Amino acid sequence: MNKTLGACPYCPDGRIEVRNISVEGKPLKLYACSNARWTYEYDMAELTDDSTCSFRIFQNALLRWNKKAISEKEIRTLLEDEQVMVRLYSSRAKKEYYKWLVLDEEYGCSIVWDIFINSDENDQ
Ligand SMILES: [Zn+2]
Repeated sequence: MNKTLGACPYCPDGRIEVRNISVEGKPLKLYACSNARWTYEYDMAELTDDSTCSFRIFQNALLRWNKKAISEKEIRTLLEDEQVMVRLYSSRAKKEYYKWLVLDEEYGCSIVWDIFINSDENDQ
C-alpha cells in the first residue's frame, strides 16, 4: 500500500500515491493517481491500457528551474488548494525567486510565469 497525499483532481475515486521508482539507476518519487499504472522502459514512462487516469508529477519535474525535488508537503498543498508557492533558483541572476505552481491536466503541474511574486516578502 503506497502512502497517499490526497484525492486525485481528475477522477472521482483516485488517490494520489507516492511511488518510489528509479530512473537511470537513481531513486525518484513519482506522485501518481491510483488509477494510473505506468511501465518504464529506459527513462520513458508509458501508461498501461487498463489505466483510467494519467495524473502524475515526477519529484524532479522542476529540475530545469533548479528545484531538485517537489516535496510531499508541496504536493499535498497543490492537491488541496490547486496551487502552491515554490522556490526556484535562477543560475543566471544567482538568486532565488518564487512562483505559483498549479495543477495541469496534461503535465501534472505547471508554473505560472506571468504572476510575479516579490521574493522579499518571503524572506522575512
Ligand atoms: Zn486520477
